[in-house]
Amino acid sequence: MPIFPALFIGHGNPINALSVNANSQAWRDQLIDLPRPRAVLVISAHWLTRGIAVTAMAQPQTLHDFAGFPAALNEFQYPAPGDPELATAIAALLAPEKVTLDHEWGLDHGAWSVLTHLFPAADIPVLQLSLAIGKSAVEHYELATKLRLLRDLGVLILGSGNIVHNLRRINWQQPEAAYDWATRFNARIQQCLLEHDHAALFDLADDDAKLAVPTPEHYWPLLYIAAQQTADENLELFNHRTEYGAISMLCCQVGSPLKAIA
Ligand code: ZN
Repeated sequence: MPIFPALFIGHGNPINALSVNANSQAWRDQLIDLPRPRAVLVISAHWLTRGIAVTAMAQPQTLHDFAGFPAALNEFQYPAPGDPELATAIAALLAPEKVTLDHEWGLDHGAWSVLTHLFPAADIPVLQLSLAIGKSAVEHYELATKLRLLRDLGVLILGSGNIVHNLRRINWQQPEAAYDWATRFNARIQQCLLEHDHAALFDLADDDAKLAVPTPEHYWPLLYIAAQQTADENLELFNHRTEYGAISMLCCQVGSPLKAIA
């Protein structure tokens, strides 16, 4: 059984970075039982590339990859170091896939809006693995299974996206609301996860799925975390919230560190 758990966080609005609210408190509470990781590998909805890339710089920059938010968010810094040696090891782990060692990207808001709550001191090395746009859901999942070895090395694999994410259907007037299709899709994915029915996670052809996952980038990070679950591991769901009708904040943790260490 891999030693270190893996986390999927529904990140939602970038503004979560700036305050302790219902979402960020749920993320913080989940961290209480986790040991300190050696490093964090983030798979964020906000880094899409042709081919696969992993950040390999010693000091990743904080990216402000959004518009229309307060100055405090545009000026936010998350100064965690990188880990070039680990980046090289990850590229080797994913062979024969070609993985670019990236020196241009950094940490996007899918990473730092969550990390600032999980590890506020920003003193743990953070890397990002990109989402290759040419891959299918199954291919992303299969690629992610190769990352399991990192968990034995004390690396926290962190997926950051949203299971339901439809910005065109957002209702800003109703922060606590959920459309029926969002509720149904969310419930279905919960069931798939709890029953370890991962093949069903790739079935996105019906009307509910088309509304919940109109574009795949926020959903794919979940596949990277589901793929971490071995047959003898449990999976825990947390933060069962849906916001603005069309954003699921649901999170999950694969693996239990206390049992693994005991
Ligand atoms: Zn996002």
